[in-house]
Amino acid sequence: MLDITLLNNLLAQPKKIVITTHHKPDGDAMGSSLGLYNYLIQQGHHTKVITPTDYPDFLSWMPGDQEVVIFTEQTSVASILIAEADLIFCLDFNNLSRINEMGELVRAANAYKIMIDHHLEPEDFDDFRHWDINACAAAQLVYTFIVDVLNNKKLINKDVATCLYTGIMTDSASFRLPNTTSNVHRVIADLIDAGAPNSRIHELVYSSASENRLRFLGHCLTNCLEILPEFNTAIITVTKHDLQKYDVNTGDTEGIVNYALSIASIRLAAFIVERSDKVKLSLRSKGDFPANEICKLYFSGGGHRNAAGGQSSAGLQEVVNQFKLILTEYKKLLIQ
Ligand code: 5GP
Ligand code: MN
Repeated sequence: MLDITLLNNLLAQPKKIVITTHHKPDGDAMGSSLGLYNYLIQQGHHTKVITPTDYPDFLSWMPGDQEVVIFTEQTSVASILIAEADLIFCLDFNNLSRINEMGELVRAANAYKIMIDHHLEPEDFDDFRHWDINACAAAQLVYTFIVDVLNNKKLINKDVATCLYTGIMTDSASFRLPNTTSNVHRVIADLIDAGAPNSRIHELVYSSASENRLRFLGHCLTNCLEILPEFNTAIITVTKHDLQKYDVNTGDTEGIVNYALSIASIRLAAFIVERSDKVKLSLRSKGDFPANEICKLYFSGGGHRNAAGGQSSAGLQEVVNQFKLILTEYKKLLIQ
């Protein structure tokens, strides 16, 4: 176990540090990881961000991106870094199954493990925890970790601020979700003061789509969207064939579920997609409807109340049918 004093003592000398985050990294995963990376390199630590899998182009511009090691592409390099690390930071996840095969390597590593996260029900694998389910993003917690735990606000430079801004912006759905408190806005104000180019960041993340991605979105909304008015629910179902036809890349499906949720009457939206090895579900909800409960109970997943995900090894149509059946159990909550 580590306490704050020991942690600060450890970080007082250059160390070998690995930062990792969940597979299929999103904006918060990359923003929090690269935010911490840009902080630690200022203190002379040998620091590497290792992602379990690749991530979309609209996240591949943050400072430090060129130095990221992708485990599936550089497995032996990454394995050595993990085995030889003094400290491993685990960001935006709290269960080692979220980093795929890397999980057991991290578990077995001698390094001190530090969890910075905002998901429910953390697994007990860490030596130090900066964890708060009320935080709107892991990037918000990296900010408070630097400012309150390490007492080093002066090292939040433009690069750190840019990455943390991106994490908070994406995980709060552009400062819209209910956990976007006034305090979040104060953190954001600090990050802009530290140099985060806020308007440019929005452009880089939200206005950098390919033509294919936009046509795919059109296809999803015109041909794949089903509205179930009796459950105030919308489902977008996408087949493997659709993914091939529109040459869909990592990240191209991200955010499409929010269009389904944008219909006034809809309280729950599902994006159900047939990947090569499994069917993946992304759920989004409004208000207090617990999307994470459905993912946890029925689809080996989890997440937050308003944004959750899961998977199934059943066929696409079977999963859609199962999902519709589950809705009957939640009808009262959905139509209130
Ligand atoms: P997405 O729909 O973007 O894949 O995931 C939304 C949120 O749900 C993620 O930020 C993550 O917190 C959570 N999530 C997605 N997939 C899983 C999963 O398989 N297991 C768990 N525990 N959480 C997930
Ligand atoms: Mn997050």
